[in-house]
Amino acid sequence: MANKYALALHGGAGPRLGEDYSVVEAHLAELAEEGERLLKAGETALDVVEIMVTNLESSGLYVAGKGSAPNTAGDVELDASIMEGHTQNAGSVSAIKDVVSPVGVARAVLDKSPCVMITGHGANLFAADQGFETIANSKEYYVLPVGVSQADIEQDDMMHGTVGAVALDVHANLASATSTGGVFGKPAGRVGDTPIIGIGTWADEEIAISCTGTGEYFIRAGGALSVANGYKLAGDSLTDALWRMLDEVKRLGGDGGLIAVNRSGEIAMAFNSDGMKRASVSIDNDVLATTFAPCR
Ligand code: ASP
Repeated sequence: MANKYALALHGGAGPRLGEDYSVVEAHLAELAEEGERLLKAGETALDVVEIMVTNLESSGLYVAGKGSAPNTAGDVELDASIMEGHTQNAGSVSAIKDVVSPVGVARAVLDKSPCVMITGHGANLFAADQGFETIANSKEYYVLPVGVSQADIEQDDMMHGTVGAVALDVHANLASATSTGGVFGKPAGRVGDTPIIGIGTWADEEIAISCTGTGEYFIRAGGALSVANGYKLAGDSLTDALWRMLDEVKRLGGDGGLIAVNRSGEIAMAFNSDGMKRASVSIDNDVLATTFAPCR
């Protein structure tokens, strides 16, 4: 049995300079420690990324799950996806409403449905069918995440946030998961990059990737699968593969970031916004959580 492991988490690439993200960094560090414990105990990468993202969603600290805001129609619509590398099994939900864990529903799509992506009302029907918990009183449930004010939510400037995790387990398998409340002020039915397999989330035998940023640009830039192809086919280093796609996001006018891990346990992260809330740990490196420190 291989015994390398590696885990990276992100809490979105929308932080603003001058804000204090110490609570978020402490939360990310604590989760990374928990993830390391699970990976060392032999848990699969797929289970660990789901557990990490479920915790990020329910914390209310990030623009995902509990920290999400309503769209212009007054509804909170959530997107999430998850993918296992060696099987390339994947599941995703988009524009799903009032479920506690969108990534949990995405995992159920992966495990129990012949579909890869289920959207809107259909995603809620699927979640109900699978017995997922729904939020009884959404006005009481949702909270403002760290660094976001009510005024920010009312502005129409595509402010955003997302959570994600990538992992290599001791069985040499990779997985990735991503979940978001999307961009603030989005219209009903708007779907970003996060739930699109190959854009917001990708995992195969060689690499696992989770993206965050203004989704429209990640979709137009080719997203996570183009990173994987740069890494596997064009011979880019892991870091160069991330920057190749992110530079394309920038050229188109967008910003954001992404995290990746390869089957050797190398972790790479990149962002072209002011910061990206993130943490990492591996068999070779202790837990490190930060927001504004540059990646290169
Ligand atoms: N990518 C997400 C979206 O566009 C937002 C984010 O990552 O901050 O929905």
